[in-house]
Amino acid sequence: MNKLFSNIKIAELLGMLSSSRRIAIVTHVNPDGDAIGSTIGWSNFLKERGFNPVIIVPNHFPDFLKWINCTENIFVHFNQKDTCEKLLRNADLLFCLDFNKLSRLDALGEYIMTLNVKKVLIDHHIGVEEKDFNLVFSKTPISSTCELVYRIIWQITNKNRVSPQIAEALYAGIMTDTGAFAHSCSSELFRIVADLMECGIDREKIHASVYNSFSVNRMRLMGYCISKMEILPEYRTAYITLTKEELDRFRFEPGDTEGFVNIPLSIKDVVLSVFFTESKDNYIKLSLRSTGDFSVDAMARKYFTGGGHKNASGGKSFVPLNETVAFFKSVLPEFEELKIEN
Ligand code: 5GP
Ligand code: MN
Repeated sequence: MNKLFSNIKIAELLGMLSSSRRIAIVTHVNPDGDAIGSTIGWSNFLKERGFNPVIIVPNHFPDFLKWINCTENIFVHFNQKDTCEKLLRNADLLFCLDFNKLSRLDALGEYIMTLNVKKVLIDHHIGVEEKDFNLVFSKTPISSTCELVYRIIWQITNKNRVSPQIAEALYAGIMTDTGAFAHSCSSELFRIVADLMECGIDREKIHASVYNSFSVNRMRLMGYCISKMEILPEYRTAYITLTKEELDRFRFEPGDTEGFVNIPLSIKDVVLSVFFTESKDNYIKLSLRSTGDFSVDAMARKYFTGGGHKNASGGKSFVPLNETVAFFKSVLPEFEELKIEN
């Protein structure tokens, strides 16, 4: 396997670790499988090296990730603000996993910006805000932050074996960020996955825990979303909207709409799928997915104060849902790549 990072950079990381005693790890708002998997995997690695790191997330994470070992110890800033901020004030090293700028952490990020703790980034998103971090491990073509964590551990230890606790968490994040090995998979990633399988994980249990654990409400919400999906054939686009009222009707829980944005991409000729949700913080949350060359990162960056990856991005809109959708439709003609190829 190729080394992604220079020996100098790895030495710098080890130097920072050896001069630190209180370590905290943070990840992005609405943590997904890669965010939780990478923080748990990295935290377990640090524990094995004698540290006692704490993990802090901005808000709740979905139930279908709660089987991952140690997730019961994660602190949630949204409902444990004082405890989390005290832990952060006392930290002398902060690992920032699976996001590219502190603003992706909302209020937690704003608090971190007031501290002068050393920050190390491990991430695979486009557009890192270098000024937010002291040391950056960023590679955008890599499938997931979990893959990066595995590769950093491999560079540190020179071994392709990790404990089952690390392997389970990293496997879960790689599986979810690649859509169960559908995209962003290099041949090296499959070698890594093979190594993880030999570290004592129960692959089928992990798959079932994430993908076969829908609540009835979530399944019905999925059916509802498919039935109200709108198609714009001239732009090879599909979109779905959900209002707060609709979310309440289906007793929405965090994570319930995870993955729904991908569904329209299985329609022949649809290359762009957008999912609009009214968030309780009074903005519209956009999830964007594409196949092939169309960059949703470019679209989210230009029009929806967001970004992410070429084929998977997020964003926000601060006007009502109907106006957001109208605006979205009004910018589509600008994107020549979406028009039907002759
Ligand atoms: P999702 O649609 O699953 O929320 O996010 C898709 C990808 O875009 C993820 O990699 C996520 O980190 C990124 N992303 C989601 N929302 C935002 C946002 O508001 N701003 C930026 N810069 N990235 C986002
Ligand atoms: Mn990720």
